[in-house]
Amino acid sequence: MQKREYLNFEGITISSYEYGEFDKIFNILSPHKGIITAIIKRIRKTSNKNFDYIDIFQKMNFKASVSDNFCIIYEAKSMETWFERPIKLTNLSSGNIIAELTINFNSINENNNYIYHLVGKCLKWISNDIFLFTLVYFQIKLLLAEGIFPEIDICLNCNNKIQPGDYLLNLIESGIFCNECSKKTKFSSLKLLEQEIRLLKHIKNTEYDNNLNRNNIITKKVKLDLYKKLSTYIKFYTNKELKSEKILFTSLNK
Ligand SMILES: [Zn+2]
Repeated sequence: MQKREYLNFEGITISSYEYGEFDKIFNILSPHKGIITAIIKRIRKTSNKNFDYIDIFQKMNFKASVSDNFCIIYEAKSMETWFERPIKLTNLSSGNIIAELTINFNSINENNNYIYHLVGKCLKWISNDIFLFTLVYFQIKLLLAEGIFPEIDICLNCNNKIQPGDYLLNLIESGIFCNECSKKTKFSSLKLLEQEIRLLKHIKNTEYDNNLNRNNIITKKVKLDLYKKLSTYIKFYTNKELKSEKILFTSLNK
């Protein structure tokens, strides 16, 4: 007989798709096990007292049975929900970018719990219509958690301290080259402006709490360009396009 296990866990629904006529599959980010993929049977057919309303971007308490790595949810109770439904397009596409990045990395390491709370915090900011800052913040904290944040304090080639200014980020070596060293070698690069490097350093060294609001000075300083540059840098690692980016750019009209 196959062994059946019962799980009781908290998680954030980060993506879902219909499966057959009545069932739905969810990717659920958990604090300790990374992403759990689970099916809810007959979700569209009956109302069931074991289930609160369930959709993407909700924090819920789940009960599931697992056998052969196949996870069936039989109870889901709401803990926190961030968005009014239907979710507005800009909020949805921003949330989806967070979800896609989380799924693309999904490494199981000691930072899982940190990422879990980071995703919750970022969804809250997005629900308060803070878009670009949230996305850049998430990119930076994810890179740090994965240990692939670029070197921006010293030149990777000559080890000299980087003075304020615009510099080339070497994508392959994942760090800044000073202007002298940039002249000597050719490499795939991104140009980072002085202001962008300052923001990278600031966000790297700062943890903002849940209650960040739209009037915070720093949220206004973050521009789409920095998001796009970090996105290019991340794609260099993951080799994956983000489907939600085009939708976000369209909805931001940029
Ligand atoms: Zn150098």
